[in-house]
Amino acid sequence: MIKDKLHRQFEYLRISVTDKCNYRCIYCMPKDIFGSKHKFLQKNELLTYEEIIEVAKTLKPFGLKKIRLTGGEPLLRKNLEALVGGLKKDAEIEKVMITTNGSLLTKQKIISLKNNGLDSVTLSLDASSQKIGNIMNPINSNHALVSEAIDNVISVFNEIKINMVVIKGINDGEIIPMLDKFLDKNIELRFIEYMDVGESNNWLLGNVFTSKETIALINKHYCLTKLTDSIDSTSTKWTINDHALNIAFISSISKPFCSECNRGRLSANGNFYTCLFSNKPYSFSKYFKNKDGALSFNDYFTKIWSNRDDQYSQLRFISKLDKSKRNKVEMSYIGG
Ligand code: SAM
Ligand code: SF4
Ligand code: SF4
Repeated sequence: MIKDKLHRQFEYLRISVTDKCNYRCIYCMPKDIFGSKHKFLQKNELLTYEEIIEVAKTLKPFGLKKIRLTGGEPLLRKNLEALVGGLKKDAEIEKVMITTNGSLLTKQKIISLKNNGLDSVTLSLDASSQKIGNIMNPINSNHALVSEAIDNVISVFNEIKINMVVIKGINDGEIIPMLDKFLDKNIELRFIEYMDVGESNNWLLGNVFTSKETIALINKHYCLTKLTDSIDSTSTKWTINDHALNIAFISSISKPFCSECNRGRLSANGNFYTCLFSNKPYSFSKYFKNKDGALSFNDYFTKIWSNRDDQYSQLRFISKLDKSKRNKVEMSYIGG
């Protein structure tokens, strides 16, 4: 177990298995920027499943307990269940989870992922109505299909988490319809504050619909009871009285959780980042593809994590943080 400069232990790795996606959400991969001229990673640049499993095995003695497979859209990688199986059985990772837009999540895929050891599914859905859904993601959005995927995940896993990014003036009117839609299902609906990730979404603070605003809105329609949050939780949780639905708030703008941040991120081509907002890649593929590193991997990783002092969200509004020089990497590349 190692700790970084702010005494945070490494426990959690989010892996982007591909930077490609079949959606173009306006807050993540705006279609004008991620168009036909955008250069995605080539197939031969991607870490293979064997290499990802090797990374997981190597990081386990450092404290790695949880892995989230994400992207881009992770289900665009073929036979993802093979990776899940390897991470669970060969690397013996306690929890392997996935975040997906749900568009490729057939019932057969869900069962196969579960049979290979997947522990949980988080699905992203930003609106109850197809009309607003089409504004949040103008390409391939199909709410009927995704609603079916949600029901299928619940039938196989008994539960699901749903991520909803809320953008002021665009989909905040969908908060109550989303609650109405899922009221009696075994779901944790997570309201995520719109973040300034990457350089392409033209983020403005004025576009953030804060968790406080969301709670105030929900309180007008439903009675909420606060649940106890686990110590390392990055969200605050509530339940809607007399209903199966729980809700959570991920408030990285209004209430950052950097002091609890135990996660690293691995891009699809094997670059490790110590923060979602970091622009400093550490090339793991050097070790796992060519194995020509000057240091042993153990020394290399110890150095990376023990020098980690990232707390971007905590410092976001402090002028000392020179954002003009950052060139932040995109969410689809670094892994959401
Ligand atoms: N394609 C998959 C999906 O959408 O679930 C996985 C990758 S996506 C980058 C992971 C999560 O990041 C999604 O829940 C998405 O809503 C969230 N996300 C992307 N850009 C964001 C932003 N600018 N602010 C907040 N959340 C964002
Ligand atoms: Fe694709 Fe997920 Fe980004 Fe939407 S949030 S564009 S589904 S990677
Ligand atoms: Fe972790 Fe960086 Fe997000 Fe802070 S800003 S919670 S350090 S990923």
